[in-house]
Amino acid sequence: MKKFGFTTAQSRSIDYDKVNTKLIKYIIENESSFSTCISCGACTATCSAGNITHFNIRRLNIQIRLGKYETIKQEIDKCMLCGKCMLVCPRGINTRNVIMLIKKGLTTLDLSD
Ligand code: SF4
Ligand code: SF4
Repeated sequence: MKKFGFTTAQSRSIDYDKVNTKLIKYIIENESSFSTCISCGACTATCSAGNITHFNIRRLNIQIRLGKYETIKQEIDKCMLCGKCMLVCPRGINTRNVIMLIKKGLTTLDLSD
């Protein structure tokens, strides 16, 4: 294997063979634009809920990909569905629809391992 002089921090890496990917697959099946997220954080910077709570939509994105569903359940209802995040997303992701799909997925999918 080629050595680049650095490695990925284990705490930041996502092994898709080991995490529960049911929710992220469901979201991308229904809102394919979400797969183009570059984690720029523009959504988080403008977020109405983030201005008054610790809600962080970019962190939520990572939690979804890590399959941390309990954390997501605790956070998701802080979103007011105002749609500001959609307006600033450089990838044109329908983040409000993503939030709606998260809510629907948490209540309708069997997310057990
Ligand atoms: S603004 Fe769009 S591309 Fe940037 S982190 Fe948010 S969802 Fe992803
Ligand atoms: S729709 Fe939700 S996540 Fe997006 S800016 Fe509004 S409160 Fe934040």
